[in-house]
Amino acid sequence: MSTRLRQSHLRPVYTIDAKDRLIDANAAFVASMPYAGGIDALLGQSIWNFISGDLPRRLWEVMYERVRLSSAPLFVPVRSDTSTERRVIDLELHPGPHRTVRHVRECLWVETRSAIALLDTNYPRDERIVMRCAWCARIQVRLGVWQEIEDAQLSLGIETTRTLPTLQDTACSACQQAVLKALPARVA
Ligand SMILES: [Zn+2]
Repeated sequence: MSTRLRQSHLRPVYTIDAKDRLIDANAAFVASMPYAGGIDALLGQSIWNFISGDLPRRLWEVMYERVRLSSAPLFVPVRSDTSTERRVIDLELHPGPHRTVRHVRECLWVETRSAIALLDTNYPRDERIVMRCAWCARIQVRLGVWQEIEDAQLSLGIETTRTLPTLQDTACSACQQAVLKALPARVA
């Protein structure tokens, strides 16, 4: 197991316009997207093409509106795991002219772990649905109970067989409350 800090000059940066379309992105952002075609394939696309789940979308809409009405950035901590890494990122939302919002993704912390098939996007899926919080990455094991994915796999009896359940993004109640309470930083 190892932890390390990511170098800040590799931070992905991207900007959306008033209609939530990507209008600018740096190479680090393009490289972070599972997308062929590079920046040309990304610019002009709606940010909502990359955010799944009704509740996460509603919460992002609230945050974007808050940032656009403000003159100060909003900082949103998000777990952004891959199958082999636990990652905590700080997503900075900066208000810009004409209701643009510039996003800066700062990776705060990375920890390697044994590969989790449930997080491998290439793994075949079946019709079973497992709910995951888009902010803390915990999995709902029963109503109101959320666990880290390793524990949730045991609680739910999920074994790595030919297919795995489909992960669906939502927000746990703790993260939902935190997001709704988050206010832009005050400018002195
Ligand atoms: Zn959560």
